[in-house]
Amino acid sequence: MAPYATGTDTPHSIDAGETLNTNTSDITVVASTRAVVEDRLTAATIVISTITGKITSIFHSVLPASSFPAGTPYTDYSPHVLLPGLVDAHVHLNEPGRTEWEGFWTGTRAAAFGGVTTVVDMPLNAIPPTTTVAGLKEKIAAAEGQCWVDVGFYGGIVPGNVHELKPLVRGGVRGFKGFLIDSGVEEFPAVSSADIAAVFEELADEPTTVMFHAEMIPPISASVGDDVQWSLPPLEPSGPLDRYQTFLDSRPSSFETYAILEILSLAHLAPKLPLHVVHLSAIEAIPMIRQARANGVKITTETCFHYLSLAAEQIQEGDTRHKCCPPIREQANQDGLWQELLDRKDSIIKTVVSDHSPCTPNLKLLPSHLPGAEGGLKAGCSSDQGKGDFFSAWGGISSVGLGISILWTEAMRRSLPVDETIRNMAFWCCGNTAKQVGLEHRKGSLKVGMDGDVAVFDDEAKFEVQSNAMLFRNKCSPYQGKTLKGVVRDTWLRGFGGRDGDERWRCVLLGAGYKQQAVRGVYLYFERCGLMMHERLSHY
Ligand SMILES: [Zn+2]
Repeated sequence: MAPYATGTDTPHSIDAGETLNTNTSDITVVASTRAVVEDRLTAATIVISTITGKITSIFHSVLPASSFPAGTPYTDYSPHVLLPGLVDAHVHLNEPGRTEWEGFWTGTRAAAFGGVTTVVDMPLNAIPPTTTVAGLKEKIAAAEGQCWVDVGFYGGIVPGNVHELKPLVRGGVRGFKGFLIDSGVEEFPAVSSADIAAVFEELADEPTTVMFHAEMIPPISASVGDDVQWSLPPLEPSGPLDRYQTFLDSRPSSFETYAILEILSLAHLAPKLPLHVVHLSAIEAIPMIRQARANGVKITTETCFHYLSLAAEQIQEGDTRHKCCPPIREQANQDGLWQELLDRKDSIIKTVVSDHSPCTPNLKLLPSHLPGAEGGLKAGCSSDQGKGDFFSAWGGISSVGLGISILWTEAMRRSLPVDETIRNMAFWCCGNTAKQVGLEHRKGSLKVGMDGDVAVFDDEAKFEVQSNAMLFRNKCSPYQGKTLKGVVRDTWLRGFGGRDGDERWRCVLLGAGYKQQAVRGVYLYFERCGLMMHERLSHY
């Protein structure tokens, strides 16, 4: 049967037995019996121009290497799955200023390792934060020459920076983020309702998205978040500070629902402006967002790999690797998030991201018996005084590059259908995340004209998460020691990639021969963002 092609770029069609009339050095070819092409799981042969980095043809069958001119780089990955390169729309890279927490080199290398070909960097915890054009320029300068994958940047919303927002849009930021509760770092204060109103008015007609860390302390509350540790009755902690339940009790679902109601109450000020709730945890917020969407409010949410795979009941005393905000909730909440997510057509949760938010081991206050603790696991070497305090520990989970395996492992644990889950993962982590940040015309799907970004996913293989699978700077993650199903064998970024999977793993680990292939640079990418200034983000 003759394969057929999509798209119009050459080479675009082929008769059986013929070879393509193509300059050998200008294309590279990847194929598999299983690829996610425009939401279908199908056999595919994908031709990528090594000059433009774009996909020039897709044939819906596995063509043999002999179909292409001698010398054409060709890899048949069957039966592994070709996924679009993942777009992780929520990553904290922390450079400059807190590079010891994470940096462009380590963070993007960890991303590439896990099939992520685009990360979008959050506007905090670097110093300066990306709340001014000057801060954005510092970010770009710090990223230059260090990135293994494409990188985009968000801008930040803090009290008093309204005048910076339009210039930041012109500067290419992929959206904005603000906090309704203490962010944990002093240079990125929370905004008030009056600040949000001013932001909505300023950005009402801009081609951007405004996102919120949606936790807010209700006026009458039994908790004051992390400050609970110093509080007297009735706001005192409900139990020992190293007990996870005490921490969970201090950040109830009502923090999320109250914040979301506050955002929704102001949404009429900018009816055309897409709004987005980052890292939704509480299922109690789902009905109110569904209702708002039904009423025409342009609001979407994301959730994170950790809310879909970890549960409060499993978290051991003092295991602060699990601290993040909003918190990981009970198993029933996790089940509810999955249920919502799987309702693809109507789900308010459109994307799944990492919220990779690391810090140095000392700030995690991990007791010495837990992997990832400061100073390792040397018996009796350090005092555990003050360790395991969920309130004083830094909140954030490291997982960039592990996401697709986490999701797959959990989906298989839940006995979800294989083919549908593969398509769903591409939907949540590639297509929709690209859309969220206005890059859907070049990222997030395998289609002619898109960037040649491909994640080669071996859905049968397993690996144990240890240091050699955590390429981020600080090897401290709640996934350490867990066995995950699903291994990314290879990552292609705009037509540049490794050979077979094991070879690439070695390349990445050694940093050899991969850097110059992997990245044509954040700079090039960023220049192209400049071309997108007059495009309005689509909403979905
Ligand atoms: Zn975050």
